[in-house]
Amino acid sequence: MVIEYYDVLIAGGSVAGLTTARECSSNGTSTIVIEEDHEIGTPEHCGGMVSLVGLQKLGLILHSNNFQNAVSTARISSKSASFEISAEKQNVIVVDRRGLDKQIAKQAEDAGAEIRTRCAFKSLSKNQSKYIVKTSEREIECKYFVDAKGLGSLKDASQNGILASAQFEIYAKWIDGKTVEIIFDSEKYPGFFVWIIPTGEGTGKVGVAGKGINTSLALNEFINSRSTKYSIIRKIFAPIWIGGPRPPFVVDRALVVGDSAGQTKPTTAGGIFSCGMAGILAGKAISQANEKNDNRLLYEYEKNWKSMFQKEFNSMLFARKVLERLDNKSIDEIFSSLSKKAIKNVSNFSDFDFHSSALDLFLRTRIATNLTKILIENEFRRVLSGMKDN
Ligand SMILES: Cc1cc2nc3c(=O)[nH]c(=O)nc-3n(C[C@H](O)[C@H](O)[C@H](O)COP(=O)(O)OP(=O)(O)OC[C@H]3O[C@@H](n4cnc5c(N)ncnc54)[C@H](O)[C@@H]3O)c2cc1C
Repeated sequence: MVIEYYDVLIAGGSVAGLTTARECSSNGTSTIVIEEDHEIGTPEHCGGMVSLVGLQKLGLILHSNNFQNAVSTARISSKSASFEISAEKQNVIVVDRRGLDKQIAKQAEDAGAEIRTRCAFKSLSKNQSKYIVKTSEREIECKYFVDAKGLGSLKDASQNGILASAQFEIYAKWIDGKTVEIIFDSEKYPGFFVWIIPTGEGTGKVGVAGKGINTSLALNEFINSRSTKYSIIRKIFAPIWIGGPRPPFVVDRALVVGDSAGQTKPTTAGGIFSCGMAGILAGKAISQANEKNDNRLLYEYEKNWKSMFQKEFNSMLFARKVLERLDNKSIDEIFSSLSKKAIKNVSNFSDFDFHSSALDLFLRTRIATNLTKILIENEFRRVLSGMKDN
């Protein structure tokens, strides 16, 4: 039997796996991507909201067939208060993930990578300097292995940061083509929210996530609360990760990228940018390690990802802790107490991909400040009692 060999095998052909493949193969590293589904980008499980700058950093030029919409406003509401942020300066757009993933796949293939669909990863074992990967088709040997299988890889590790979500693509006259909506209700959607991502006038992706909720019921109830006249043209149910990064990202010559490494924003579970960047950084590190025959260079990936995102993700994790403790009355009070000037500042200066400055706006309100104080004191007491116990 002829055994296939590649320098790097990537399990999972979505944004993180494909950017890794593109980067590796651009640098002359022989690369294969195996994807268990029959088509790259399908089934899509994403809202497709991303910033234009983020896409550019991922090395992507927006194709007209992937572009769905440009968003000009974000309306954020609680039970009885709401405010609007202009999204124009942040160039927020909505893309079709099916097309976007195929675009990265084409770049990777052009650079020399091989992509094999309907080929599932089964197991990984090591034989001296090689890994042996069992797939649904055959065994493949490789020097470096990348796990880009998404949340499936994380689920076994911890259930804590996982929320069930549902997202329906709908036609409904009430969808404003230029406004993204985020709706908080700590009783109905504890720990998360409802989102409406418009793909055009009267069309959009409406989704919900929350701790311990029946997402299908919650979403149907929300849509019906807007109007009973609508059509659902697609339904997806998929988990999201809000638990923050799960290092180590490198063990031996095996790397983890994207959702598999918990690299999605703990506030919104958005991951196109941070997971795609992980792929680029991992691919660069693998190429360098391979070229210089020095596997210590693999750790550059983890170091560089953390220096880009860790501080930001820590702020988001903290904001999440605060949010999870707020009841509807407190959220109403926070939203009503935001000054016009502060909202304008967020519109003008905040960054879609690094939004801790926008989160500060909420954390600086009286209620959130009090809660923040309590949380910090609790944290401090926990550390102190730990020190005493030791
Ligand atoms: C409902 C929803 C809405 C979202 N909306 C947004 C948004 O608007 N903006 C944003 O930035 N992010 C959004 N996200 C998050 C974003 O989709 C993910 O963070 C991103 O897709 C992660 O990319 P990934 O490559 O790490 O993993 P995934 O996209 O999950 O890809 C993993 C790939 O691995 C494959 N795979 C799994 N097991 C195997 C196996 N055994 N063998 C081979 N292949 C395998 C899968 O088929 C899949 O193709 C959303 C997520 C959800 C669920």
